[in-house]
Amino acid sequence: MRRALGIDIGGTAVKAGRLGPDGAIEARVEKPSPAREGPEVMVALLAEVVRELGAAASPRSFGPADPAGIAAGPCPVGIGCAGLVDPWRGVVLTSPNLPGWTQEVPLADLVARATGTRPELFNDANAFVLAETRLGAGRGAATVVGITLGTGVGGGLVLDGKLWIGRHGAAGEIGHMPVIIDGPPCACGGRGCLEALIGTRAILDRYRSLSGAFGVAETSREWTGGEPLTVRGLARRAGEGEGAAVATFGETGRILGLALAGLTQLLDPDLFVLGGGISRSAALFLPAVRAALGEAVMLPTAMQPRVEAATLGPDAGWIGAARAAAEGPAG
Ligand SMILES: [Zn+2]
Repeated sequence: MRRALGIDIGGTAVKAGRLGPDGAIEARVEKPSPAREGPEVMVALLAEVVRELGAAASPRSFGPADPAGIAAGPCPVGIGCAGLVDPWRGVVLTSPNLPGWTQEVPLADLVARATGTRPELFNDANAFVLAETRLGAGRGAATVVGITLGTGVGGGLVLDGKLWIGRHGAAGEIGHMPVIIDGPPCACGGRGCLEALIGTRAILDRYRSLSGAFGVAETSREWTGGEPLTVRGLARRAGEGEGAAVATFGETGRILGLALAGLTQLLDPDLFVLGGGISRSAALFLPAVRAALGEAVMLPTAMQPRVEAATLGPDAGWIGAARAAAEGPAG
């Protein structure tokens, strides 16, 4: 494997780093994301990041002790970005993280002009699943479905060891699989999508409705001008044994488990890897996910896929982008 640079364009931070030929992290940088600015400001930042990480990767820095890096020439660069991207043309079509980008942005061309290196562009959840398959929870598995849980619910597929991005680069949008007809509205404009049922907003809404039944909430400080209600706050409450919070994670896990059962019938994967901010609370809902999956799926228990929390944390995005770039162009 070649040495490679990876960059993850987030809504609040741009995380980036350099992976060695053995997959080890050699360098890492993080900058505030100019997400609300136009593409020019982002491209300037990306060029700065590539220079910072790439300069150190020149053959002179590593010397004859690292023939793999030298033989490979300049580092391939991978960029992961949320939303719809065209990996073949290197174009960002739409991204929820980049509200200031109102038109398609030929990001790969712009970065190439600024740095002399043309990056490969990937959807961030695709990058995540590749990283977890090669270096994280899915090590050694051939077929892995990754799901990122947060405000948005993303996903990606590695099938028989290869990232599967589909005909338009849009495969793995698990969050927008319709689950309930005429269900709650989703950020994508549809209704009843998985994201509309298990994304951050849905979890907090579920707690609000369940907490009435459990007789909490109305007097709790979140409702009376204290800290805003967050999934992290809910996790703390569930950890303390508050019934409504425990039930909220249980119900959310059950819905996710059912969705994973559908994916199991379709793909018969080795493993589901759960990432994203909400997966930090995985211990609170993994048992419900596994139980619902086990009940709904046709396969006997011994043949059912595992469901695990991701292990690479917030670095998975850039690690996956670097790895995908090192493995070769999309498609
Ligand atoms: Zn949707």
